[in-house]
Formats: sequence, C-alpha cells, structure tokens
Amino acid sequence: MTESKTHKGSSLYQRRHLLGIEGLTAQEIGYLLDQADKFVTLNRSAKETSDSLKGRTVINLFFENSTRTRTSFEIAAKRMGADVVNMSVATSSVKKGETLLDTAYTLNAMHPSLIVVRHNESGAVSLLSQKVDAGVLNAGDGRHEHPTQALLDALTIRRRLGTLSGLTVALCGDITHSRVARSNILLLNTMGARVRVIAPPTLVSSDMERMGVEIHTDMRQGLKGCDIVMMLRLQMERMQGSFVPSTREYYRFFGLDAEKLSCAKPNALIMHPGPMNRGVEIDSELADDEDRSLIRTQVEMGVAVRMACMEALIENVVLPESGEERFKHG
Ligand code: ASP
Repeated sequence: MTESKTHKGSSLYQRRHLLGIEGLTAQEIGYLLDQADKFVTLNRSAKETSDSLKGRTVINLFFENSTRTRTSFEIAAKRMGADVVNMSVATSSVKKGETLLDTAYTLNAMHPSLIVVRHNESGAVSLLSQKVDAGVLNAGDGRHEHPTQALLDALTIRRRLGTLSGLTVALCGDITHSRVARSNILLLNTMGARVRVIAPPTLVSSDMERMGVEIHTDMRQGLKGCDIVMMLRLQMERMQGSFVPSTREYYRFFGLDAEKLSCAKPNALIMHPGPMNRGVEIDSELADDEDRSLIRTQVEMGVAVRMACMEALIENVVLPESGEERFKHG
C-alpha cells in the first residue's frame, strides 16, 4: 500500500495522505490553498454545492477530545456529499484493549475512502496510514503536526494580506507542546515568511533552533515589526511537572494585551487556533476585536481547507475491488 501505487488524480497534489506539512512543496501548499479559496466562495453561496465525495464514506477517528476540528471535518465532508461516521475513543473498542493497528484493520474492512485521525501519540497517524487502503488525514498527532490547522492559518493570512512571503509571524506561548507551532513553522518557512517564536525558556524545545526560527523570551522585543501575532494555549494536558510559576504570572509576561500588541506593527493581526484561555494567553477584548482579530475567520477557513484537502486526496485513493485482496496487504 505504498503511496506511489495509488496515484491517479490529475491535481497538483499527488498523495493519498496528508500526514504533515513536512515534505510538502510550496507548489503543493499553494495548490491546496487555491482550491480552498474556491470552497470559501462556494460555502458562502446559498445555492452551489459540491459532490466530490458523493457515495464515499469518511470516518472521523478521534482518540483525543476535539470539538472544533472534528465538527469542521464533519461539515466539510458532508458539504461534499460524503457519508460521515464519527468514532471517538470513549465509545470504541480501543478502550477495551484493541491496539491502534487492530483498529486500522477493522476499519479498513469497512471500505472507508478517507479516515481523519487525531491521536495523542506523535507518529500514530502515520503508522495507521500504512495499514489502510483509505486516504488518511492527520487531525493532530501528539505534539508532532496538525497540517490542516497550518493550512487554514495560511489561507486566513493570505486572504487578508494577499501573500505569505516576506511577512514576519510571531508564534507565542507554549511552543514545546504545540503541534500547531510545528506545522505552522514548516509551512511558513516553505512559503517564504519569517517566523519568530516567543516563549518562556521552559516552553521552547531545543529542536526550534534547527527549524530555522528566531527565538525570543521577551515578548515586547519579539513582537517588534511583526505582521501576525499567533497566540497558543498552555497545553496543560501534555505537561508533566510545572512549566510556569502561575497562570497569573504567565499572563503578565506572555499574555497578549493591548500594551504588548503595540510593540508589533501598527496594524498587526491576531490569531489563535483555539480553544482559547481568555485571561491566560490572551486578553478577552482583544480576542473579540473585529479589526485586529482573525480568530473567527480561522474557523471559517477551516471548513474550506478541509474540503480542499479531502477532495485532493480522494482523487488518489483507489480501493481494492475485493475484500480478500485487501487482506493480502496486511
Ligand atoms: N486545537 C489545537 C490542537 O489540537 C490547539 C490546542 O489544542 O491548543 O492542537
């Protein structure tokens, strides 16, 4: 079940899976963003629909909690005519001890065309993708990657500022535990933006230096000259031990408020992937400021990006004709 065997689509995205931004070319990213742009228009029109996934089954397989991402994938698939099945770990046999691979084989036998997977372990989604005939979309694996988040962030920025190239983007907060940060860094670097990370020293991992970003531990310094300020949540669920003295102290030094934002470019825009902790990493009024905050637009772009990704993948998915054949792949 190698990817090369399954190419058949005519689009510029010739892969069966979307596992991460790592390895994607600027051309592939640009193609997905262009396609997503068309879906924004379609989603805003009351009349037009797409039937690219008509008769196809999409399984949303979520081993980690999610509201926004799961709903976004579900709406995206349904807007293109797919039948969608939502499976969450609380109701699945994984709780009864079934392994990830058993789950993969079981789902494979049900002939889904696409499987959207979120898992708390980095690398789990890639492992699953090697065992199924469906196309697999990574909806977040551990602290590794969250590719559709980075694509929707890029679409949001590109639509507002017309380009990604040459912009300075600051990612602020819990960088160490953030898959959103990793995927965004990879994408923004590929598309010619400059990336800064701003965080307390306890929340920037050593691999950041290798990722070609500027590291700042002083927020006011780091925000100087930035076009985009992307705030990230303190990911308490991934922390073992204490990384910040208190959330109050954290807000004082790393929470985005009007005074710190004034250090960035005069019209700098605010983003956040959600869920937001108001008063911890971001001031509540700033988050809702319609002139500066792109947070609600990000949610809208999420559906369009997921439609574009699913449509691109489906062209490259070829399911085997018979059930027997699929088990030869084991
Ligand atoms: N929703 C994003 C994620 O799944 C960010 C977050 O949870 O803070 O990684």
